[in-house]
Amino acid sequence: MTDRIYNFSAGPAVLPLPVLEEVQRDLIALPGVGMSVMEISHRSAPFEAIINAAEANIRTLAGVPDNYKVLFLQGGATTQFSMVPMNLLTEGRTADYIMTGSWATKALKEAKRVGATRETGSTADTGYNRIPTDAELSFTEDAAYVHMTSNNTIEGTEWHQLPQVPDGVPLVSDASSDIFSGPIDVAKHGLIYAGAQKNLGPSGVTLVIIREDLLARSSKSLHTMLNYSVHAENGSLYNTPPAFGVYVLGLVIKWALAQGGLDGIAALNERKGGKLYAELDRTGYWRPTAQKDSRSLMNVTFRLATEDLEKKFIKEATAAGFDGLKGHRDVGGMRASIYNAFPEAGIDALVAFMQEFERVNG
Ligand SMILES: *Cc1c(COP(=O)(O)O)cnc(C)c1O
Repeated sequence: MTDRIYNFSAGPAVLPLPVLEEVQRDLIALPGVGMSVMEISHRSAPFEAIINAAEANIRTLAGVPDNYKVLFLQGGATTQFSMVPMNLLTEGRTADYIMTGSWATKALKEAKRVGATRETGSTADTGYNRIPTDAELSFTEDAAYVHMTSNNTIEGTEWHQLPQVPDGVPLVSDASSDIFSGPIDVAKHGLIYAGAQKNLGPSGVTLVIIREDLLARSSKSLHTMLNYSVHAENGSLYNTPPAFGVYVLGLVIKWALAQGGLDGIAALNERKGGKLYAELDRTGYWRPTAQKDSRSLMNVTFRLATEDLEKKFIKEATAAGFDGLKGHRDVGGMRASIYNAFPEAGIDALVAFMQEFERVNG
């Protein structure tokens, strides 16, 4: 596959090449089935095997405890911004939101439509360039839940340890852009959600891992498709699931297991991120934007001295086969998204390109 370039897109993002090759090989006819995954009933035995294997492999990969349900939903992480409060923010209670960037802001906006909310800590004062310390967080007593964004895709910051939420208050994490990038203590969460298109597969499927006791909060008056307990009771097959997305996600999880599981993946991500940050810190020419202890291993954000120079860098990098390095329109600058499937050779090539750019333009 010599014509694949280095894809630094924030999402939809690069997928593991062996996964794409398997999808391509089996696209016309799944082995033993004679039809493609897009053409079979979601209630057929072959699809049941696919969705069951995807769930079982997620449970193995992340050590998901038995008292958690694994759901494959639709509507992206953005629909979870609504479903979380609709299901979990019960009458008379308050939901705490930790404000660490644009996605957290969007999540809070939807929760406000549902019930009482509180910002329980924010790093807006420093332009969301860091994760708050525990001392900066003050939780509502008996909050319905605490919502966090484990990796801030746009700002390039990531939680390196979970916040200390009060006993008994469920932690809800939007893990869209760093799920399964390293070990995750599922039992410390009430609910974890992630749109697939960063670390898990194609867009169109959304992973939700929810502790079973929380399903009791879903009111019977909720719209059926927005009710977690309906999806849990029906094994994510209340209606037609995003079958192709579930299939590819299953292959990505199998690939992750083959990388040595989440420990193996974490070691790889630390090496990849370490190389890129080392270059960003080497001379002071590049200006990494996240504070050091809050840096994301998934989305590496940085700037140059002037916007003209940034434009030049992005233009030349794109021409040289490094795609998707332009920062999010809200924050500008550059962003290298280097999710699990991003190859280490692409980091080495980018670092070499950056060194040459600095030599010529520095
Ligand atoms: C991409 C992203 C979203 C939005 O996901 P959709 O699947 O497009 O709805 C939400 N939160 C985070 C942290 C993201 O990175």
